Amino acid sequence: MSSIWVLGAGQLGAMLKQAANPLGLDVKPVDIETDETLPLQADDIVTAEREDWPETAATKQLAAHPNFVNLKTFPQLADRLTQKQWIDKLGLATAPWFPVEDDSTAEKAYQTLGERVLMKRRRGGYDGKGQYWLKQSEGTEIPDDWKGLAIAEQAINFDEEVSVVGVRGKNGEKYFYPLTLNLHINGILYASISPLQRLEHLQEQAEGMLGKLMDALDYVGVMAMECFRCGDKLLINELAPRVHNSGHWTQAGASVDQFENHIRAVAGLPLAPAEVKNQSMMVNLIGVDVDYNWLSIKGLELYWYRKEVRPGRKVGHLNACSGDLEQLQSILKSLSSMPEPYDQALAWLSESLP
Ligand code: ATP
Ligand code: MG
Ligand code: MG
Repeated sequence: MSSIWVLGAGQLGAMLKQAANPLGLDVKPVDIETDETLPLQADDIVTAEREDWPETAATKQLAAHPNFVNLKTFPQLADRLTQKQWIDKLGLATAPWFPVEDDSTAEKAYQTLGERVLMKRRRGGYDGKGQYWLKQSEGTEIPDDWKGLAIAEQAINFDEEVSVVGVRGKNGEKYFYPLTLNLHINGILYASISPLQRLEHLQEQAEGMLGKLMDALDYVGVMAMECFRCGDKLLINELAPRVHNSGHWTQAGASVDQFENHIRAVAGLPLAPAEVKNQSMMVNLIGVDVDYNWLSIKGLELYWYRKEVRPGRKVGHLNACSGDLEQLQSILKSLSSMPEPYDQALAWLSESLP
């Protein structure tokens, strides 16, 4: 069978490869900095683990392949300006915004969006990097090097952050995982929990929004939609045209995880609704070293990405899925020696469990 090439060789590419293995499919993550000539075959398939990439010898080879799935969609969503325009065009709710142009002023931002405005770099931002707060009370101005390169968004006073991960096949069929509740600390995802009965009434709304986007983009594969929950209303924060950190719990908690679903979709294989097994939770390992003592904790599953540990860097994650809520609580207690701000993340999970 043909190979599936992945643009990017980070943890998402590695987990796509791992998920495809039982299906007998050959997934090849590609380091975008390699200068090798890739032995791409005509019937191979190309996908990506990231939405934005520089032009390199490797990315040029991959982007020239006729079977690069969603190739035209990536630049549409990788630029926050065009991403927001898509959301607006489809009439979907999102934080009010405007493009930061050469002649934009903080004054105009405060007038149109309110006294706290979040500027976000149009390209390349992740884990809350590439953000800049404008605060009227502090008289913040727009720095010159943000003009033409950012969008400005109203500060949303949300109740909590949720996300939904969906998959769409070549024939347009779509399946969704249950909404995930997410905790971000300083703009970076620390913990997720799903499914939650108290979010069930928002599932249809979430699926309708993400489904509309995937259909409009004729998207194939897994896409994630991050939202702010404001009462019973979801506002789209951002979209990711790829497998997503808030879907990592599906490795432990669903019969088919997000990685396998993405591979199935881009390979044109059958999709089916995933069976959600039990209560799942996920803890990101951010700037902390691996501790193999975690393996002695019953029910805990470790994913370590083999990356150099640096402050604020995602280097792994922990999953747990169980129908025994006391066991999940006891797992959280076993992790209590983790450094700050894990006290906050673990307490949040403990309180969020049903
Ligand atoms: P990711 O790693 O998820 O790709 P990112 O750097 O692309 O992150 P966003 O998801 O846009 O950035 O924002 C990161 C976090 O910052 C959000 O999860 C949320 O906690 C906060 N945030 C973003 N936009 C707003 C907003 N308009 N109002 C209030 N908080 C916001
Ligand atoms: Mg993002
Ligand atoms: Mg985000």
